[in-house]
Amino acid sequence: MHPQLATDLDRLPDLLEAVRKRAVGFLDGLPERPVVDLGAAVPPRAPLDEAGVGLERALEEFTADWEPALSASAGPRYLGFVTGGATPAALAGDWLTSTYDQNPNSSADPAGQHLERQTLAWLRELFGLGPEHGGAFVSGATQSNTTGLAVAREWLGEQLGVSPAEQGAGALGRVRVLSGSPHSSVGKALSVLGLGREALVAVDRLPGREAVDPAALERALAAADGPCIVVANAGTVNSVDFDDLRALAALRQRYPFWLHVDGAFGAFAALSPEHAHLVDGLDLADSICIDLHKWLNVPYDSAVQFTRRPDLQARVFQNAAAYLGPLGEVPDFVHLTPENSRRLRALPAWFTLRAYGRDGVREIVERCVAGARTLGAALEAAPRLRLAAPVRLNVVCFTLAEEPTAQRLAALAGAAAGEVFVTPTLYQGVPALRAAFSNWRTTEQDAHRIARALIGAADAL
Ligand SMILES: *Cc1c(COP(=O)(O)O)cnc(C)c1O
Repeated sequence: MHPQLATDLDRLPDLLEAVRKRAVGFLDGLPERPVVDLGAAVPPRAPLDEAGVGLERALEEFTADWEPALSASAGPRYLGFVTGGATPAALAGDWLTSTYDQNPNSSADPAGQHLERQTLAWLRELFGLGPEHGGAFVSGATQSNTTGLAVAREWLGEQLGVSPAEQGAGALGRVRVLSGSPHSSVGKALSVLGLGREALVAVDRLPGREAVDPAALERALAAADGPCIVVANAGTVNSVDFDDLRALAALRQRYPFWLHVDGAFGAFAALSPEHAHLVDGLDLADSICIDLHKWLNVPYDSAVQFTRRPDLQARVFQNAAAYLGPLGEVPDFVHLTPENSRRLRALPAWFTLRAYGRDGVREIVERCVAGARTLGAALEAAPRLRLAAPVRLNVVCFTLAEEPTAQRLAALAGAAAGEVFVTPTLYQGVPALRAAFSNWRTTEQDAHRIARALIGAADAL
């Protein structure tokens, strides 16, 4: 054995203790470290060392040279994109995932598969889905959208008497993917799947809204004159608007289409009695995308995808090999997901759901919504700022009352970045900033502190 490996193996308990202390030190400082340090220096590129330095020195070097430049994206005031943190139980589950280093892809080594199926069953309960929705863990919502749309592609093939999985996407001819406000990852998925970004057909939205107009969707379906894919949105990133899922699903009685719902973070509205109506009809979808590294607050990389047609899913993702079992009634995950080998990705979610239950997840969701409301009210009252969209759930989309240029907004965001991190957007043609509440640590005090930082930066522009 390489001498550094042998030494590290001998000293493993002490070394892991040192890593644990380092992790605790980082987490203790998390709420107060600069949220994002835009000027942080990182070490210059260095060549690969022949000998290596062993874990102890690598840890020291990393801690001194790299860790100070990392953002506090796991902390309470990082509101850019839609970013979750990691609950204590999720973090423990993630550490143990690497410790056990299991590959739950096959029933040849079954415990990992059973744990993933148990966790999927809990997630179905959380979001009000029935057993007809088969699921699998994937690395993020982009991969979940891609997987759902891959099954949709195979469904289109079934309607037309061809199999894109066997013959290629060209066998489908022109494909139409109809959506009101699709997330950017949908275009990426269509590119990967060989359907092409141009397959997206923009459908009119309700006046002043990001939700699709069901009447316009009906017209688009009638004009398409053949089977289509509809991507419905449950929680858009700017104004957290929701398509009327029940109304959209009802259109399937008159038009043939696959209904995919992107509920990456919006699906969590199901947890809050005040907001659950927003996702009414989610269970009617043919495929569903839900991110877990956002609002469930498990570490990256984690999302779930659900579909009603695991048979079509296996047609797309099956990995026929002599060393793998036949497909069978319940296909192994190796036949259902883009990856073959994968980590026991369900474990952090298992831990957080077991530790905190439905109530714990609901409390996080409701506290985030309350924080967004507090910030929204404070910004609304600030003379230099205005809300660009109503605060529907957990995102505050705001802009400058005067001269809302992208440049001035970037200056505002940059000036506040040590205290709060927000990201730019364009909403209804106007440059704006978004503050997305999805971290389990964020408190009401944080919301006030965030408001002070943003209003102060706007006043100083
Ligand atoms: C974040 C997000 C995605 C993409 O998720 P990743 O986890 O970054 O891949 C897709 N759709 C919506 C609505 C999102 O908010």
